Amino acid sequence: MNAEEKPYLPAGAKTVLVVEDESSLASTLSYNLRKNGFNVMQASDGVEGLQVARRDNPDVIVLDLMLPRMDGIEVCRRLRADSDVPIIMLTAKSEELDRVVGLEVGADDYLTKPFSMRELMARVRALLRRANVRAPADDAAQIFVGDLTLDARGRTVRRNGAEVPLKPKEFDLLFFLAKNAGQVFNREQLLENVWGYEFFGGSRTVDVHIRWLREKLEASPGSPHHLLTVRGVGYKFVR
Ligand code: CA
Repeated sequence: MNAEEKPYLPAGAKTVLVVEDESSLASTLSYNLRKNGFNVMQASDGVEGLQVARRDNPDVIVLDLMLPRMDGIEVCRRLRADSDVPIIMLTAKSEELDRVVGLEVGADDYLTKPFSMRELMARVRALLRRANVRAPADDAAQIFVGDLTLDARGRTVRRNGAEVPLKPKEFDLLFFLAKNAGQVFNREQLLENVWGYEFFGGSRTVDVHIRWLREKLEASPGSPHHLLTVRGVGYKFVR
């Protein structure tokens, strides 16, 4: 990289990982992101994208859906097992979107090709704002509920002393409900508080995460003791 191409990077510039196999689009994306003050890393297939994401911890990932070696859906799913990094999925097919965003795969947002660079920048910035708002753990607190111990700082849940592995969003949802035990929340409130104001997924996302949590935490998921459905309204956590 010669001096003229070298971007001006303000201190604390955020890093965006672009995973895109179409080299012309990858170049355009990188050029525009750098011009807007971002540090950019690139990967041209899914396997490389996953490796770079895990090794270098980017602040945002722009992830193409159709990729060689491993598609974007699989990359996203694997990242979501242990990471909350904001992910924008690029897709050519609008019918994929329901699956891509939120629920099954865990992307935070999507853009259907073709899209404008201006739109992409707006989405990247929106995701960074949300990540910043959510980043600090709520309290240092631990919450003790029956046989469950929720630790906000370590983001862990123990049941009878044994750690229960939860995905990041499962933990966030559980912690939010437990912290506000006894209070009923509808799905929209939960989406706003746990997923963030600009989340694009549907409210079914909440139902599925509740089901997963019950399966992991309740002695009998079919008749839960902590994560209760309030018919016609939403959910509440009881101690
Ligand atoms: Ca592609």
